Amino acid sequence: MSPEKKFMTLEDVAELLGVNYQLIYRLVRSGELPAIRLGRVYRITKEDLDAYLIRQKRVTGRVLCEACGTLYESKAAVKYTCKECDAPICFDCWQRTKTHICRACSTANAKTKKRKK
Ligand SMILES: [Zn+2]
Ligand SMILES: [Zn+2]
Repeated sequence: MSPEKKFMTLEDVAELLGVNYQLIYRLVRSGELPAIRLGRVYRITKEDLDAYLIRQKRVTGRVLCEACGTLYESKAAVKYTCKECDAPICFDCWQRTKTHICRACSTANAKTKKRKK
């Protein structure tokens, strides 16, 4: 699957996460995972899936720094947030390497800059 693909089927999402289709279907039907309904089929946007996964990470109590990718056991180590999307950023990134936006946003920013002449 191309990372540029914006809309995913429930099958795509299930495969991506390594879970079964029924689980994804249940999450969509219960409204936990936002989806676009087109007749009888659903499409999930990458943004919605990412946002859902980030929420799940926070629920478990462990927090992933979205700038360096380190998984921390407590929220205390990851108390900063991306200036653009509120993704968690750890103390190390924020204070030592002065990284104030997450990787997704910095990649997005780099792409927009390249597109502009
Ligand atoms: Zn970090
Ligand atoms: Zn961000």
